[in-house]
Amino acid sequence: MMMGGHVKIIIYEARWFVDECGNVRWQDKQQKKTRRNQVVILQDHVIQQLPENIQKGLFKTIDERVWPTSRNISIREVEDRLFELIELFTASGQVELICEQLDEQSKHLVEGNFDVLVGADGSNSFVRRYCNIQMISEGIEYACGVGYEVPENILPSDQTLHQALNCILSASQTRYMVNSSLSCQGYLYIRLGKNEYEALRQCLQKVQNRDEPLDLPNRTKWPQSPTLSIIREGLKFFNINEKFISRIAPIEINVRHASVVVRELRSEINSKQPKKILAFLVGDAAMNVHFWPGRGMNSGMKAAMALARNIQRSYIANILPHRQENHSSLPFLDFLDYESFMARLRAREQQGRSLRILDSPIDPTLKEAQINAYSDYWYEEHRKELKNKLIDTRKEFQGLPDWPHKTRAVTDTELEDVFSRIDCRTVTELALANAWPTREMNGVEVLVEDMFPVSQQSCLSLPKSVHKKPLTRQPTIASRRRFLILWIDGDTINKRSR
Ligand SMILES: Cc1cc2nc3c(=O)[nH]c(=O)nc-3n(C[C@H](O)[C@H](O)[C@H](O)COP(=O)(O)OP(=O)(O)OC[C@H]3O[C@@H](n4cnc5c(N)ncnc54)[C@H](O)[C@@H]3O)c2cc1C
Repeated sequence: MMMGGHVKIIIYEARWFVDECGNVRWQDKQQKKTRRNQVVILQDHVIQQLPENIQKGLFKTIDERVWPTSRNISIREVEDRLFELIELFTASGQVELICEQLDEQSKHLVEGNFDVLVGADGSNSFVRRYCNIQMISEGIEYACGVGYEVPENILPSDQTLHQALNCILSASQTRYMVNSSLSCQGYLYIRLGKNEYEALRQCLQKVQNRDEPLDLPNRTKWPQSPTLSIIREGLKFFNINEKFISRIAPIEINVRHASVVVRELRSEINSKQPKKILAFLVGDAAMNVHFWPGRGMNSGMKAAMALARNIQRSYIANILPHRQENHSSLPFLDFLDYESFMARLRAREQQGRSLRILDSPIDPTLKEAQINAYSDYWYEEHRKELKNKLIDTRKEFQGLPDWPHKTRAVTDTELEDVFSRIDCRTVTELALANAWPTREMNGVEVLVEDMFPVSQQSCLSLPKSVHKKPLTRQPTIASRRRFLILWIDGDTINKRSR
């Protein structure tokens, strides 16, 4: 949008396919794939930097404020809305979509007919490996994600909690957290000790089968065990009925980052005139943060905007004035700004947020809870402690000028009800688990506009003309790879198996 017809963007995405009508779509249940139903919290200060039409289009269907200064939205919804917004650009031919996994054999990498390669391909980035960029790990933690979907028209007893109460319960401790969209679809997250994580993996290996419903209430399939009771207690804490659970996933959180995010590659396809290509990393390919503070996608969006603005700046300074002459590349040194933006973002998000959580692990709390949980004296003490934490958080939140649930006060009874749902061990764990470190999480942000100021006017208007010759795409065939069997001449040992 910032460079109009001066640029053509080719996007490879392994989770797209071409349907029978020639349309590109996200793979879903029919293709035996699971869409991403995790709910992310998108910060206002990030969204406000997007062009206005994208801001509107992104929250066209779901525009929900759960926490102050942000909105909750599922990743699936983000993907669908952004995909819709890209359609005008694909119709005008400015953007080309390729429903394939990018690898060394991909047409564009083989032919080298591009100027910039952007790795926005997630934490296991192929582009990062292709550019030989190493990752640096700062620490590991373990968690579990429990996905749920509550259908419409359910019994009042099956209703989930109001988002105001979800926020208070989530922020009063750091063992359990709920991120949901409209209170009916989302994930319960559980911070686990390493032993708990290993036990959960073993338990899921035995039971979870992608082709059949999860059926958590079925005690023959999911017999009572210490690991499953951690999950069941979390569900009770947030009053989520087991029958709505669709997925349980162990999560290893490796807080790590790429050693560099800009690299100059040499394409030697034309050996007389080797070409320089710039490669960049954005999003999870560049940096993996702890998901508890909810900043991964926000940081990915900041990185994408910073990079786009840096490319535009470099293009205007270097290439636009000499457009009629020989085609030249963007200079590597122009992107020191992007590299330093990412270093600042990393300092804020990793040191300033993720490591605050890693520095305060859950394991010691769990050990202490194990010792104290079954003494009547300690139970009463911990009950009081947890109740005070809930009351303090409620007071803090309801006093915020931008608290989105002003018309929905959380009552004492609603807080008291929590204790009738969870057992004494969970009360102890939650009383002992640190409350959310609000002070460290809030405070100064690294802003794209500080290093790359831009006005809404500098975004070009949306393309109007559609492609003169509409693209015809062949429907995706499930697997296009061929396996060739090679053998060595004169090999007598394997002769019989040929
Ligand atoms: C449990 C959990 C909760 C989270 N909650 C929040 C939150 O509240 N707020 C927040 O901001 N962030 C949150 N995050 C983080 C957020 O989900 C990620 O940071 C974000 O999705 C990263 O986006 P990305 O585009 O960089 O990578 P991805 O989302 O991983 O997307 C990469 C894409 O590239 C495609 N791809 C990969 N390799 C190839 C290839 N070789 N060829 C073609 N395509 C390829 C993949 O199919 C995928 O579509 C959470 C993360 C987790 C795990």
